[in-house]
Amino acid sequence: SALYNVDGWGAPYFFVNDDGDVAVRPHGAATLAGQEIDLAKVVAKATGPRAAGGLGLPLPLLVRFPDVLRHRVESLNAAFDYAVRSTGYGSRYQGVYPVKCNQDRHVVEDIVEFGEPFRFGLEAGSKPELLLAMSCLAARGNPDALLVCNGYKDDAYVSLALTARAMGLNAVVVLEQEEELDIVVDASRRLGIRPVIGMRAKLRTKHAGHFGSTSGEKGKFGLNAAQILSVVGKLKSLGMLDCLQLLHFHIGSQIPTTALLSDGVGEAAQIYCELARLGAGMRVIDVGGGLGIDYDGTHSAQTDMSVAYSLEEYAAAVVAAVGRVCDRRNVPHPIICSESGRALVSHHSVLVFEAFSASSAAAPHPMVDTAFLLEGLPDDCRADYRNLMAAAVHGDYDTCALYADQLKRRCADQFKEGLLGLEHLAAVDGLCEIVARGVGCVDAAPRTYHVNLSVFTSLPDTWAIGQQFPILPIQRLRERPAVDGVLSDLTCDSDGKLTSFIGDRDSLPLHELPGHGVGGYYLGMFLGGAYQEALGGLHNLFGGPSVVRVAQSDGPHCFAVTRAAPGPSCADVLRAMQHEPEVMFEVLKQRTDDATAAALAGAFGAMPYLVFDADVSGGECSGMSSDSEGSAA
Ligand code: PLP
Repeated sequence: SALYNVDGWGAPYFFVNDDGDVAVRPHGAATLAGQEIDLAKVVAKATGPRAAGGLGLPLPLLVRFPDVLRHRVESLNAAFDYAVRSTGYGSRYQGVYPVKCNQDRHVVEDIVEFGEPFRFGLEAGSKPELLLAMSCLAARGNPDALLVCNGYKDDAYVSLALTARAMGLNAVVVLEQEEELDIVVDASRRLGIRPVIGMRAKLRTKHAGHFGSTSGEKGKFGLNAAQILSVVGKLKSLGMLDCLQLLHFHIGSQIPTTALLSDGVGEAAQIYCELARLGAGMRVIDVGGGLGIDYDGTHSAQTDMSVAYSLEEYAAAVVAAVGRVCDRRNVPHPIICSESGRALVSHHSVLVFEAFSASSAAAPHPMVDTAFLLEGLPDDCRADYRNLMAAAVHGDYDTCALYADQLKRRCADQFKEGLLGLEHLAAVDGLCEIVARGVGCVDAAPRTYHVNLSVFTSLPDTWAIGQQFPILPIQRLRERPAVDGVLSDLTCDSDGKLTSFIGDRDSLPLHELPGHGVGGYYLGMFLGGAYQEALGGLHNLFGGPSVVRVAQSDGPHCFAVTRAAPGPSCADVLRAMQHEPEVMFEVLKQRTDDATAAALAGAFGAMPYLVFDADVSGGECSGMSSDSEGSAA
């Protein structure tokens, strides 16, 4: 566990149990003894053959833990509640979940349900997000819960947000651009619905990390001081200044320190107080996202992979900064809203995938027929050979490397001219390798583990922005790893690999595989519950993973799989690119006989990933409803 710093980034949810497996404490620190769930047992249950009581799902597998989500929602609210009570803050916290972080229906429904006692709401940034947020809040949300409508808006978006108000939802249309005010005023007149308006301010406080480009005067979103005053003027002239009730800002995800946070919140609180002074009906300050995650477990502000504060310290800093400014300006304390998404959903899921082969540790000693080699070489190459051997006798590493390089280059030139055959080329490579090993200058490059996964589909931020997630074997963690490896995915793309890992590592400590091409060595990617699912693409037409939802059940170490679904089949991903699998099948079937027709049909139903166990199904989980219950001890 120390090798991968599991206690650093995983606490209080993930740890290594006595069997050497990663286990989950779904209720965090409040988890009782025996309530732990062994991840390896979940994988065995989910992927095991149906004949043996498994669910027959193919890997990769996304395991969701709704109880972790509940614990995150409760912890965030408890942290703000404590900060409010302990400082005598004159109002309350009422957060929203920005659905962009993970729009999965069950994730959003869970958050709304778990957040109901806290009047927890949702934030949407597009029309489909608004539709899902509206239906979810209407079905099970607290009536006071905020529905924050951010993002670029057209008439259809604004009309939908106003419709939400007419339905009794507490929707606030947040102006991201000055021009949006006209759309809001027009739609509100046409529909006869008085809006509640928010405004996104462009702060001068700037966050310097990767996610900070959204902040500062040149940031993409928000209104500057002149635009804020212009909106106030227009609303006043329309007799609608009371509609302006919320001030929003977002200085970027992964805010590194509470010092920067206090600075930004303090600046926004001044704007809030100015708006109150100018006569707006201010009630809410929405501090946006930015509550960070400690991906590498270092608890430091030195990299984008960590943050130097806890949930409690974040909440305390926000409440203190708003309270301080409002007290000084004699403005009543507003409701504090945050749009914390990363911090709510990152921990709730684990992506499990398997390594199925690895580059060999050391290729067997090549056999080289020196006489054959020499007789085919021209004079300059023979001279290189003699110099190489002389340097090897003296163990002269640098000279060996020089002549080996020169010999290989000259031979490659000869090959390109058609003067050397493949056998000579192979013999030269073999000779140089023997010499390199002899003088101890073999490249100690990490071995490549091939994993049944698409980085582009499941860990898009790793190639897009260099994000690192904790990745480690989920078993054999009491066994010292023997290999340093990097991970290479299934796509035909040289970017489809993982070569940098938390802890500033360019390889991962791994174990020898149980066999070649059989799978069974399971790795987990942790803290990836935010952004990855929706950002992931279909590169090479690899679709999403199988998904299970796992909860604690009665009895020590018992769990129940309360929902299970296979990932998209080849037919599903083809449909996403406008192909018509049924038509394709009919066209191709005309060229088949009975045996090949069955193989063809099977391919459309198969999952795009490699399946090592024939009893594991892709496409459809025959004989099992998507709500199937399964439990295992
Ligand atoms: N709110 C807005 C407006 C955002 O742009 C974002 C993300 O970039 C968030 C909230 C979520 O932020 P975080 O992921 O830091 O929780």
